[in-house]
Amino acid sequence: MLYNSYFKNPKDVPLLLEKIEKYTEQTGPVRLMEICGTHTMAIARSGIRSILPDNVQLLSGPGCPVCVTPANMIDMILDLSQRPGVLITSYGDLLRVPGSAQGDCLLARRAGGGKVESVYSPMDALKIAEEHPETEVVFLGVGFETTAPGTAACILEAASRKLNNFSVLCLLKRTEPAIRSLIESDDFAVNGFLCPGHVAAIIGADGFSFLPDDYRLPGVVSGFEPGDLLYSILELIEMLAHGIPELKNEYTRLVRQSGNPAALALMEQVFCPAPSDWRGLGLIEDSGYAIREQYAPWDAVKKFSLAPAGEKEIPGCRCAQVIRGVLRPAECPLFKKLCSPDNPVGPCMVSGEGACAAAYQYE
Ligand code: SF4
Repeated sequence: MLYNSYFKNPKDVPLLLEKIEKYTEQTGPVRLMEICGTHTMAIARSGIRSILPDNVQLLSGPGCPVCVTPANMIDMILDLSQRPGVLITSYGDLLRVPGSAQGDCLLARRAGGGKVESVYSPMDALKIAEEHPETEVVFLGVGFETTAPGTAACILEAASRKLNNFSVLCLLKRTEPAIRSLIESDDFAVNGFLCPGHVAAIIGADGFSFLPDDYRLPGVVSGFEPGDLLYSILELIEMLAHGIPELKNEYTRLVRQSGNPAALALMEQVFCPAPSDWRGLGLIEDSGYAIREQYAPWDAVKKFSLAPAGEKEIPGCRCAQVIRGVLRPAECPLFKKLCSPDNPVGPCMVSGEGACAAAYQYE
């Protein structure tokens, strides 16, 4: 239909917009949701919202892994960082996420003497553990299916090296149960989904076929260039106009229908589905990954007898509603007033994939 290079060819933009406009004459107002923090940032950075017709609304869903981790889980991590002999290692995003008390985050705990290190991968954390056998190194395994294979490989490596001073606090989450929970909630009002390209690269485009099959909602697995996003939006609106919801894969240069078998095998070997608590969505059956019993020595929950307690939300913060797409960041009374990237009240303003940070920076 369009050139192979449409995803980075600005001259195709007017053609895509013209088609979107034509189809929205048939559909009327359309609400589409992205469920990937990288999409959230790409949409805000490219200014796509500003060029779409007024009756096409783009909403951000629960696609930022740091944002969907509840405050009581962060509090639990903060407490762990104070235990003697423990070093917390984490991707940088999580270091500034506050627990239930404003300003209380891993960076603040480090300033107060807690041992906290930022790492680029779980293997970096493993290396630290190997070099410091006297220290209990805990890696915070946050993310969706995208980061799960790397975390699984790291646990297997720790097991093969018999590295007993290393463990993973598994906060990994599964996308499908969360999307189902969102769709089945009372305030759900979305007509179609931009499906996350990175997650689909692991689980396959077929991992989102439940959208048309079970809910008659269209979905398009999308890439991250502005052209990818515009073309995916066009495909969603075209399906809505024709009344034929399907699951389409726009990101074929990376995503296969059935995913990455090697990555899936790693995940299957190390993890099993488990209930998980989501900020904004609550406890959802099978929406997380637990480390299998066989690898219990590398499971920080078991090693340190961890259990979250206390408030799941930050007082005054509306991240729970932002994550469910029922509130735009600018509608939060604290947005750009008491809450900014320099002084974040909630995780959606901290994370490089958060909807509030994206809106603050670009919109
Ligand atoms: Fe939370 Fe700040 Fe976003 Fe409001 S603006 S929802 S307080 S992160």
